[in-house]
Amino acid sequence: MAHISFQGERYSASPGESVLDCLLRHGIALSHSCKSGVCQSCIVRATSGEIPAKAQSGLRDTLRAQGYALACSFIPESDVEIALIDTELLRTRAQIVGIDPLNASVMQLRVRPEKPIEHRAGQYMNLVRDDGLVRSYSIASVPDEDEDLCFHVALVADGRMSGWIHSGVARGATIEILGPVGNCFYVPGASEQPLFLAGTGTGLAPLFGIVRDALRRGHTGTVHLFHGSIRPEGLYLMDELRALAIQFPNLRYYPCALQGEAEGVSIVPVDQLSLKTVPKLNGHKVYLCGHPDFVRMMQRKTFLAGASLADIYADAFLPSPS
Ligand SMILES: Cc1cc2nc3c(=O)[nH]c(=O)nc-3n(C[C@H](O)[C@H](O)[C@H](O)COP(=O)(O)OP(=O)(O)OC[C@H]3O[C@@H](n4cnc5c(N)ncnc54)[C@H](O)[C@@H]3O)c2cc1C
Repeated sequence: MAHISFQGERYSASPGESVLDCLLRHGIALSHSCKSGVCQSCIVRATSGEIPAKAQSGLRDTLRAQGYALACSFIPESDVEIALIDTELLRTRAQIVGIDPLNASVMQLRVRPEKPIEHRAGQYMNLVRDDGLVRSYSIASVPDEDEDLCFHVALVADGRMSGWIHSGVARGATIEILGPVGNCFYVPGASEQPLFLAGTGTGLAPLFGIVRDALRRGHTGTVHLFHGSIRPEGLYLMDELRALAIQFPNLRYYPCALQGEAEGVSIVPVDQLSLKTVPKLNGHKVYLCGHPDFVRMMQRKTFLAGASLADIYADAFLPSPS
């Protein structure tokens, strides 16, 4: 049985139990959100002991070298000593400068960090409320083009963070942001490569950022953007994207919904529409964002349609366990 030393106490981890679960079980309120090794909000530092590779997956090399690790994916095989990290290094205070509806259930949140944060459109940030609640949101803004960091937040029934953003938070309030995280962003250097982007709901957020980033950087290859929703009312930014497609003729924008009726919106599932429109994805760079089931299905389907695994970037919007 492995032991975890933390703040002068020693705890026994059950077989297969993560550092996070063990400390939570002992009543220690360690910051966390997705518990899947994705959001990185449970980052700690191992000051002694072996760190399994999985616990450092997705971390920058500089953080790995210093023993930083994700407590949720850290299943100790032998005794380890864990320390809280200096969050100042990774967190930034930011002011909320805008909360504007994009449709009836999606709010655009604009935040202005106190100090510049190097980031790319399409990555995600962890928003940390003052009571410690943490949730990940994808970056819809483009550095150098948009003044503030923008997020699209869908209202989830009984959602603590999304409910607060939709109705509890005031312009001028401050919040902490932690990140950026993730590798779902435009990589310059292959400007003629065709891009295939598909998302559901607020999965449009990172795609909106990535598309504008690519076009701003002079991407000349065809950019296919598919956005799906249950009903047409769930779509948003349609006028902006149609205007962008006129400005950049290599952008093809396809809004679609499962049911209902609206001009210019195809009533067909986004996976069917996208793979019928672009049936062969050899040589494409693929970006998939939104509901986890959709992302998983599309990872499989785009691979079978010829995209190479290395060219498929995906962000599944995993909910946080209650
Ligand atoms: C990498 C990543 C990027 C993300 N980017 C975005 C983004 O750009 N925009 C965005 O809106 N969200 C995004 N999310 C989801 C976001 O982090 C939150 O999970 C979401 O806002 C719900 O949080 P909440 O506190 O409001 O709900 P919670 O209080 O955590 O949940 C309330 C209840 O709703 C359930 N629930 C949670 N999410 C959903 C859902 N989507 N559908 C149905 N039931 C749900 C929970 O299981 C729980 O029962 C992202 C998640 C990840 C991991």
